[in-house]
Amino acid sequence: MSVSARKLEFACPLCGSGEVFYSCTPGCCFNHVCGNCGATFEPETHPIGGVLKGVIPPDPLPEASDPTAACARCDSTAVYMTGTNTIVCASCGTILGIEMTEVHGG
Ligand SMILES: [Zn+2]
Ligand SMILES: [Zn+2]
Repeated sequence: MSVSARKLEFACPLCGSGEVFYSCTPGCCFNHVCGNCGATFEPETHPIGGVLKGVIPPDPLPEASDPTAACARCDSTAVYMTGTNTIVCASCGTILGIEMTEVHGG
């Protein structure tokens, strides 16, 4: 069985806005900026138990400024969401939880 995923989405931890942009590159850091209040933060994932096999990445793939997180298990940035808002790594199938770290107000 396969599961189609959609782009990863998360909200600003300070104001709750969904206008969140990835401002760096995966080789550097995961700094994001909020388009509403200017806060910066980095998403961090952790396995919450369970593996989902056959995850199909979104089409089209997210753009460079779309919210991005790295898989806690395999470091892949192919981290997406399923229709039920489960966050999953399309590379290794690990089901992930996400939290915001390094939060700084704008
Ligand atoms: Zn904000
Ligand atoms: Zn992974």
